Amino acid sequence: MKKLLLVGIAAFFLTGSTAEDTTPYSEDYLMDFACTVTYTDCSGLQLPHIGVTQLNWAGSGVAGMYFPGTDIILIDIDFLRGLPELELTSILVHEMAHYIYDQTRGAHTACETEAFAWHVGNSFLVSVGLEDATIYDWYEWYNCAAPGPVVAE
Ligand SMILES: [Zn+2]
Repeated sequence: MKKLLLVGIAAFFLTGSTAEDTTPYSEDYLMDFACTVTYTDCSGLQLPHIGVTQLNWAGSGVAGMYFPGTDIILIDIDFLRGLPELELTSILVHEMAHYIYDQTRGAHTACETEAFAWHVGNSFLVSVGLEDATIYDWYEWYNCAAPGPVVAE
């Protein structure tokens, strides 16, 4: 994992792009959005570091990645170039949700954090009128049970 991270950071400096260049929403807005729709108190949480990489993820269906225990999110350059900006933004806010979950809820299963992140990404798509781009049967891809609603803690 450490080697993958180093490769990603190197690629980020080579490409010189950032995810912010391609989305009309600020990172502050997206953090606030993710915290609000998950009833999460994010005071004291810094913005994550978001890099754009040139890893070979395009064939895998992995568009972005959050590294648990860190504040680092990487977005795949091929997805960044190929997606409409609001769909890219939904991936970014999904990865931010993983960061928020990791930093505010502690230990968790993959299904728990994916339910949280997909809720945020789908909510963002609905908020910008892209209901058609939402995916609610994501849990089948991850072999998770169908999630319940996200509620205040
Ligand atoms: Zn995820």
